[in-house]
Amino acid sequence: MLYIVATPIGNLKDLTLRAAEVLKSVDLIACEDTRHTKILLTHYGITTPTTSFFQHNRFTKGEYLVDLLKAGKNIALVSDAGTPGILDPGYNLINLAIKNNLEMTFIPGAAAFVNALVLSGKPAHEFYFAGFLPNRAGARRNHLEKLKNLGCTLVFYESCHRILASLQDINTVYGDKEIAVARELTKKFEEILRASPEIIRQKLAKSKPRGEFVIVI
Ligand code: SAM
Repeated sequence: MLYIVATPIGNLKDLTLRAAEVLKSVDLIACEDTRHTKILLTHYGITTPTTSFFQHNRFTKGEYLVDLLKAGKNIALVSDAGTPGILDPGYNLINLAIKNNLEMTFIPGAAAFVNALVLSGKPAHEFYFAGFLPNRAGARRNHLEKLKNLGCTLVFYESCHRILASLQDINTVYGDKEIAVARELTKKFEEILRASPEIIRQKLAKSKPRGEFVIVI
């Protein structure tokens, strides 16, 4: 069985009881970064062997993990944070397991976009999760223009390196509209800013932006 296991997005206490049970009982845990996941495992006294499954070995390692599953092993798939498959290589293993008719189940838990969407106060009955915005300014602006036509709440992931540039482009495309930016969700410095893109950009620009961000428009 492949167990797709959601892990915390910051606060280690957000691991569910069921997730801990599964991580303890499987034969192997496939992690994006074994050192990162070890922090969580050590916190819960879990000693299950780990192996890396990440962007650059996802095809070769995927085949290897599928062979183990076919041989009857139980494997848990985790990502660095949150739900495997939401913008991380987990998707590739899940897909490969489906192609090989392997059994799987999902142990639910945190996903950063859910926390941000709920805390934003924006309508959540219809929303579009748009992942990361393109790197280049021109492509980013075009993408934002295209999404504007959807007419529903939009959710983006963003890094500290690009948050200011993205907010500038959101301001160009959406103007003086109240948006929400969530930072460091579930962590000590969790913060939700609800204001226009330009006001939030100015606030974040006061010092070098740190942490992980979700933008809700
Ligand atoms: N699998 C993850 C999930 O379920 O949300 C997402 C992985 S994606 C590679 C990483 C991005 O998620 C970060 O750049 C950030 O935008 C967002 N993210 C993850 N943890 C976060 C947190 N604690 N606070 C805010 N954003 C977070």
